Amino acid sequence: MSTNRLKELEQQARLLEMAPSKEPSIVDDIVEFTDQWIQSLPKEKSFYRDEDLKNLKGLKGFSEEGEGLAALLSEFNEEVLVPGINGGSGGHMGYIPGGGIYASALGDYLAAATNKYVGVYYAAPGAVKLENQLIKWMCNLVGLPESTSGGNLTSGGSMASLIAMVAARELSGVKAKDFERCAIYYTHHAHHSSTKAIINAGLKEAKIRHVPMDEKFRMKPLELQKMIEEDKERGLIPLMIMASAGTTDVGAVDPLDAIGEIANAHNIWYNVDAAYGGFFTLTEYGKKKLKGIEKADSVVIDPHKGLFLPFGSGAILVRDQKQLYNSQHLPANYMQDTMSNQGELSPADLSPELTKHFRGVRMWLPLRLLGIKPFRAALEEKLELARYFYQEVQKIPAIKVGPDPELSVFYFHFQPDGRDANLVTKQLLDEIHKDGRVFLSSTTIDGTFYIRVAILCFRTHLEHVQLALDIIREITSRITKSR
Ligand SMILES: *Cc1c(COP(=O)(O)O)cnc(C)c1O
Repeated sequence: MSTNRLKELEQQARLLEMAPSKEPSIVDDIVEFTDQWIQSLPKEKSFYRDEDLKNLKGLKGFSEEGEGLAALLSEFNEEVLVPGINGGSGGHMGYIPGGGIYASALGDYLAAATNKYVGVYYAAPGAVKLENQLIKWMCNLVGLPESTSGGNLTSGGSMASLIAMVAARELSGVKAKDFERCAIYYTHHAHHSSTKAIINAGLKEAKIRHVPMDEKFRMKPLELQKMIEEDKERGLIPLMIMASAGTTDVGAVDPLDAIGEIANAHNIWYNVDAAYGGFFTLTEYGKKKLKGIEKADSVVIDPHKGLFLPFGSGAILVRDQKQLYNSQHLPANYMQDTMSNQGELSPADLSPELTKHFRGVRMWLPLRLLGIKPFRAALEEKLELARYFYQEVQKIPAIKVGPDPELSVFYFHFQPDGRDANLVTKQLLDEIHKDGRVFLSSTTIDGTFYIRVAILCFRTHLEHVQLALDIIREITSRITKSR
């Protein structure tokens, strides 16, 4: 190949080297677009149903030559950002809202533009220390022991649950022939990612024991104990107890302390799913509510929920990081250099991932830049907002609420005299969705259809709750009159 051709290719390839100083207008335009999007949130809807958007054209394809940014941003807005739930909106109070604080976006920018390889300590000692520092901070928060605890920053709670399940399986020493004799304990209200973790860990044949719940959908420890004892007598192998620190459906917190005692007494791996509820331990109330979480062998926690980070941030925290290492570490010839310098355990030895996003920066930057105080305040605010919403919504005629919120989730339904409650509650939710200024989701409990409220978006404040109450008042009164 001639050097001329190489020069020609180089010239084309050099287009990939954009830099902020070379392309200031592109940087400015992206910042401006993002700023406008944030500024417009108070006026924007929280939800657009796909079927109500008539102008969707679909995304264009890719071409050999590049295009101008303006058209791309407008396409991105119309085709991508507008349809569906607006996750950034304070009116989003459905499912479990995520975060998306801007400081995290800046952290991601730093991480992506510098592209530090953060899989192994040898390649990025500082980056691994940064991530381990965040993990230690979370371990401290939930009370896992300072000297032995550790974990991994994952893409989310589901991956974290899978990592915990694999660690428990490996520690127990069970083999495939034993799998059908293994028993795993959780309630019917545990998140479905628990079941998915079991399946993905190859344990589909294991016996799943649904532990009975009390009237507030919390695991009954005595029933758990009875089940374990019976299973042991039958020759089964109790492998893991999965408790919830805030269920997705109703926000119930299992009695973590009592369950921890049982897990200890029987030497069973104790996993606490705190994906939703974990960061409430930053508040005094939450710390008390989640008492006993410190007894866990592993804790699943989602910074993209309770720490308001953008999606793609979960974590698995473990009492003894050696157990995680033993279940995930493998040597490889081409990795031999990395074995010589191991100041701290590497993410790649604690998770299925090798190369990974440097996700620590999106958490580290906001925590350092803003301090912990605003996070703590926001979490306390969400707890109070949920209580306020719960208290006010029951004053609306024919609204019947479920149990008072243990954290920031509760549910209610609409039951005007002589009408089918499931039908009119569905109608109420449908009209809330059509209105779109706030977004609520639904669930079915024991055959009854309920509207769920989950307050966790960092932008949700009193005004959004009052708006939601106004909307519910208005629609229920209309439905009542319309018969
Ligand atoms: C969200 C959630 C999960 C799953 O976490 P992802 O981050 O969505 O993978 C698990 N458990 C609970 C209680 C949750 O709320």
